[in-house]
Amino acid sequence: MLPDESEIRKIALRNAYMHEGKADLGAVINKIMGQYPDARSRGKEISAQVTAIVREINSSDSRKIMEEAVSLLPELAIKEKHVQEHRLPDLADVTGEVRMRLAPSPSGPLHVGHSRMAILNDEYVRRYGGKLYLRIEDTNPSNIDLDAYHLIPEDLEWLGVKVHEIVVQSKRMNIYYNEAKKLIERGSMYICECQQSDFKNLKLQSKACPHRERSPETNMAAFEKMISGGYSKGTVSAVVKTDLNHPNPSIRDWIAFRVKEETHPLTGKTYFAYPMMNFSVAVDDHYLDLTHVIRGKDHLNNTEKQSYIFHYMGWKKPHYYHYGLVHIPGTILKTSIIKKGIRDGTYSGWSDIRLGTLLTMKRRGYRPETFRKYWVGSGMREIDSEFSWEIFNSINREIIDPDARRLWFVPNPTRLKIQGSSELKSSAPFHPGNPSLGERTYSLGSEPEIFIPEKDWLSIRENERFRLKDLCNVIRTPTGIRYADNSHEDLKKIRIVQWTPSDSSDFIVEKPDGSIDRGKIEPLFSKVKGVSQFERYGYVNIDPEKRVGYYLH
Ligand code: GLU
Repeated sequence: MLPDESEIRKIALRNAYMHEGKADLGAVINKIMGQYPDARSRGKEISAQVTAIVREINSSDSRKIMEEAVSLLPELAIKEKHVQEHRLPDLADVTGEVRMRLAPSPSGPLHVGHSRMAILNDEYVRRYGGKLYLRIEDTNPSNIDLDAYHLIPEDLEWLGVKVHEIVVQSKRMNIYYNEAKKLIERGSMYICECQQSDFKNLKLQSKACPHRERSPETNMAAFEKMISGGYSKGTVSAVVKTDLNHPNPSIRDWIAFRVKEETHPLTGKTYFAYPMMNFSVAVDDHYLDLTHVIRGKDHLNNTEKQSYIFHYMGWKKPHYYHYGLVHIPGTILKTSIIKKGIRDGTYSGWSDIRLGTLLTMKRRGYRPETFRKYWVGSGMREIDSEFSWEIFNSINREIIDPDARRLWFVPNPTRLKIQGSSELKSSAPFHPGNPSLGERTYSLGSEPEIFIPEKDWLSIRENERFRLKDLCNVIRTPTGIRYADNSHEDLKKIRIVQWTPSDSSDFIVEKPDGSIDRGKIEPLFSKVKGVSQFERYGYVNIDPEKRVGYYLH
């Protein structure tokens, strides 16, 4: 395999990052030749390609190169932070306790992406003391899953996030109505009865809609009619006046309330007019007296929209922080897709092994501390980045490994008899570095039958001598295997194969890509619960009763 241009660039950027933005050509070429043995036979051509890339990098602004390196290879910054202080920056203007919030919509339980806002906010409230609200943002009755009201607090509890008070927006409707009335009185909000598409088109042309300059009294009457169910869906909206010439059309006069005819899962048919997120968020951020708001960069426009409410009302704004977006590859996070999949039977539920929900992560055996370490390590930078499962898994591995028993599992087993052996016995600790986890012993009798993975069996040549781990060395014969010896002398040179005894149990491992491995697990597995390391396979969270395991990493 040969490296493509983007791979070469990554390697060069990694090197440049280590040397303040300037890559060392020789080191980059060596690295590439080491990593891609096939490149050696095309040395001239690859070297020319690398030279051009390194030249281009070295002639660019070093600061930009450092930034590009971190955005492509976030582990660089994380590693550095781990080594350095491993601490989030201080917040601005902290004069005592802080009040912060988590503001998820109850469309479903939380996923890996949400864990970032939860952990960052929690970290700061722990650092400074104060109060963390969980504000359930349920003012869009068409996008609510009733279970989310209890699943979200449970997810947070599992993550170790300490919520001091839960606030549910649908119970605060009168607060939003009252604030809307104040804005109407001040001439800062109007009721628009245009067709939605007409309103949009006018805005795009920086033109006022015919209702914009109606009197506060007329607007108030229309708002009262709106909240008491006098309008049908799509015929009316309450709009916050901003600046029709704002360069960003989405910030020009934005919609604050609309009519919804769906039944709300908590309040039923009590309300007809519902606030849009930007309105209820601004009002609540003020009334909960928040000092700091930490949310993703995708909310930057919203921060600007919300600032109009703060301005009209004369409220002091909290400090806002917007962290860069993180792309999380290789898993399914989108609630609408998951919901549809659960409905049509594609997924077994919110904790289906293929999903990126926290419920699935827990089921696979990830530890909550891993999330905290990862997100604190990646900080609050505004730069967008790619989530690294490699780093995330290595953090998790460090946490789980000391207690993870090593178990013997043979996927796709082939049954073999060890011909010519006397009585065989195998003893091995459940963890090489942690004797307190005990050991297992199997007395197999003479010429016992065992299982080994079919994949190994197919690649073993006739007359090859190989080792059955912690048991003995055998030789492949034309008809099977024959006992050879039990010498440990050439262990580094011969192939070592995992095996399990003939009375092993059937066991299934479900993997996140949706595939399943069926195999045999050693008899003593039933004593083990939780995360184990299947030798030569990976970490698996096992459910001994069901004889099923969920693949971790
Ligand atoms: N409920 C909003 C969301 O889930 C968050 C609002 C905010 O953080 O300001 O996107």
